[in-house]
Amino acid sequence: MKNLKINLWDLDITNKKLAVISHVNPDADSLGSIMALGLALQKNCQSITICVCDHIPNALSFLPFINTATNYHLTESTQYDICFVLDCADEKRLGESQGILDKSHQIINIDHHVSNGFFGDINSVNPHASSTSEIIYELLIDNNITITPDIATCLYAGIVGDTGNFLYDNTSAQTHYIAGRLKEYDAQSQLVSYHLYQNKSLGSAKFQGYVLSQFESLCGGKVAIFSITLELLQKFNVSIDDIDYVSSIIRDIEGIEVAVVLKEVDSEVTKVSFRSKCDFDVNQLAQKFGGGGHIKASGATIFHEIEQAKKMVQKQLEIEIRR
Ligand code: AMP
Repeated sequence: MKNLKINLWDLDITNKKLAVISHVNPDADSLGSIMALGLALQKNCQSITICVCDHIPNALSFLPFINTATNYHLTESTQYDICFVLDCADEKRLGESQGILDKSHQIINIDHHVSNGFFGDINSVNPHASSTSEIIYELLIDNNITITPDIATCLYAGIVGDTGNFLYDNTSAQTHYIAGRLKEYDAQSQLVSYHLYQNKSLGSAKFQGYVLSQFESLCGGKVAIFSITLELLQKFNVSIDDIDYVSSIIRDIEGIEVAVVLKEVDSEVTKVSFRSKCDFDVNQLAQKFGGGGHIKASGATIFHEIEQAKKMVQKQLEIEIRR
């Protein structure tokens, strides 16, 4: 079943052992939504584990109670009645947390990615929602669960993160309505803006200048592409989390329709981020490399070294953009 409204009380959550998990490389929406649901369920259930499988980016360490999230290894032998999987289109993107699925009796998949594979026993997937946080807001309201200021702050951060501060066209009237309601529930919107947009390290700010002076353009100037090697990160003394803005700054240049950022993971693995600001569907492009996401923001992992990965992406873009 897809895009199902979930009645949490019919699932008898009060007496069950619950887990809430999300994808690798966590972002504001994945962490905001799992913390919001986790905090909301904590008040109503006997046992709940919020599990994050990767390190938490510095910029998101302000999220209320984020330090109560646990690591998969600490819960490895636990069995769960229900596992809520949030903001994850594909089980493979759960990283180590994927192990929890085999130990869970029932899987509830709540997501907004158009590429979602409906892997849950119950699937509440709405690609029209700006963010998973937006869906979690509606879930809490539908189930009469109190939205505390901490829950509101987590959801607000998720919405701000996935809409690029209400800039992208996934921002609907409903998104603005929900953001307004969250402010009424005392979401700390200033705190969110500060941590997501106003607290760049100096190294990260300098890196921004470097990207703008060094990116390449392809396909007659319609595509901007930039490669982030491990050596470059070291040179600017920045981590990959500090510079997640790279794909948006090159996309936002006049005449650019698609932005591609390649990130070296190691000598055999490259992550790629795709962004579009026109009709070009980067979800379909990412799927050619085994990835996915949204029409205007998607990603993939290519199991080749970065130069080779760049050639592969470039070749595909030249075919697709010419069409
Ligand atoms: P990113 O470029 O990593 O910020 O990701 C942009 C969007 O694509 C996010 O919604 C991700 O969930 C999705 N995405 C990134 N990498 C993958 C992947 N390997 N497989 C499926 N979806 C992905």
